[in-house]
Amino acid sequence: MQFRDLKKQYQSLKKEIDPAIQQVLTTGNFISGIQVTELEEQLSAYVGVKHCITCGNGTDALTLALMVWNIGPGDAVFVPDFTFFASGETPAYEGAVPIFVDVEEDTFNMSPSSLEEAIWQVKREGKLIPRVIIAVDLFGQPADYPEIRRIAEKYGLLILEDGAQGFGGRIGERKACSFGDISTTSFFPAKPLGCYGDGGAIFTDNDEWAALLRSYRIHGKGADKYDNVRIGMNSRLDTLQAAILQVKLKAFEEYELADVNLAARRYTEGLHKTVKTPAVREGFYSSWAQYSILLKGKEERDRLQAYLKEKGIPSMVYYPRPMSMQGAFAGMDCVKVDLSVAVDLCQRVLALPMHPYLTAEDQEEVIRFVDAFIRKDDSVNPIFKQ
Ligand SMILES: *Cc1c(COP(=O)(O)O)cnc(C)c1O
Repeated sequence: MQFRDLKKQYQSLKKEIDPAIQQVLTTGNFISGIQVTELEEQLSAYVGVKHCITCGNGTDALTLALMVWNIGPGDAVFVPDFTFFASGETPAYEGAVPIFVDVEEDTFNMSPSSLEEAIWQVKREGKLIPRVIIAVDLFGQPADYPEIRRIAEKYGLLILEDGAQGFGGRIGERKACSFGDISTTSFFPAKPLGCYGDGGAIFTDNDEWAALLRSYRIHGKGADKYDNVRIGMNSRLDTLQAAILQVKLKAFEEYELADVNLAARRYTEGLHKTVKTPAVREGFYSSWAQYSILLKGKEERDRLQAYLKEKGIPSMVYYPRPMSMQGAFAGMDCVKVDLSVAVDLCQRVLALPMHPYLTAEDQEEVIRFVDAFIRKDDSVNPIFKQ
C-alpha cells in the first residue's frame, strides 16, 4: 500500500499526460510557454479570484507575497505553531519575526482566540508592528476565515492564506485560495493538486499587487526582460509542469476531489469509535491533503505506527515538532502565548494513507489493523485507557 499513490494516478492519466508532455517537447518552449498562461487562467477561474500568478514552489509563493507587502525587520507575522516549516520560515527570511499562535484540537487550524491574544501581547510589548496573519489550511481544511477576517479588520492586519495543502477546499461555495488578501498554494507532487516536480501559485484580486508579483518573480522586471526596476527573484513554473497540471486539474475537478472525500468518509465511519478522527467544520469542505487521527499520547502513537509498518501500511507524523521548538527560531522571541494544543498534537497525531485512488479494500485493511491494535493495546495496557 502507498501513502499517496502517485504511480496509480499517473497510470490512470497517462493517456492525457504523455501527449501533453510530448507537445511541450515538440514546441520547445520550456519556460513561459502558452500552457503556463492557460493554466493561470484556468486556476483563477477555478478559485474565483481575478489574478493567478504561478511560480517556482509554494515557499517562493509565500516569500513573493511578503515582498509585495514590504514585510521585514520590525514586523510581526502571526503563524500557526502547527504547520509545515515554510509558513514560519518565509517571514523570518524576510527579516520579520514569526509570532506563533496555538491551534484548535479538532481542526488542527489556527485558533482565532489565541491569535487575538498574540496580537494583543505584541501590541502591549510595543517592540514589533503587527502586520500579517499567515493562516494555513492544514491537511486540506480552510482555516476559520470568518473569525480570522474579523480579527484582521479589527487590528488592521493583512491575511496571507497559505493554501499549500488547501487547494480544492471550500467554506460554503467560496473556494480555498480566495480567503487571503493574497493566497498561495503549492504543486509539490504530494499536495492535493500536484505536478511532477516543484511548482506554486499566488492568487489575489488586487491589480497592483498582481503586477508587482509578476515583476518580482522574474528578477524585478520592468517594461521588458532586460529592464530591471526592483530586486526580485527567479521563480517560474516551467511549461512541462504547467502542461501536466492542466491534465491534473481536470481530473481533480471531475472526480479526484469527490473521491478523496469519499475515502475520508469511509475512514471516519470505520475509525471514529476507536480513535479521534479529524473534524470538518459545519459548512466547510476539505481537500484532504492528509487524514490525521489522534492517539492518546506519543507512546501509543509510536507503537501504532510501528505496528502498521509491520503490517505493510505506511503512515506519517505531520508534524513531530511545533514551530516554536524548531532550532532555527531559537532566540527569535517568537512565543507570546500558550501553545499547549500544538505541543500536544505533535505527540498524538498520525496520518494514514490518503489519496483519491485508495480502494475501499485497502481502507478496510487499515481500519482493521488500527482497530486490532487499539483493542489489544487497551487490554494489555489498561493504564492508557481513559
Ligand atoms: C508544502 C507546504 C509549503 C511549501 O510548499 P513547497 O512547494 O514545498 O515550497 C508551505 N506551506 C505549507 C503549509 C505546506 O504544506
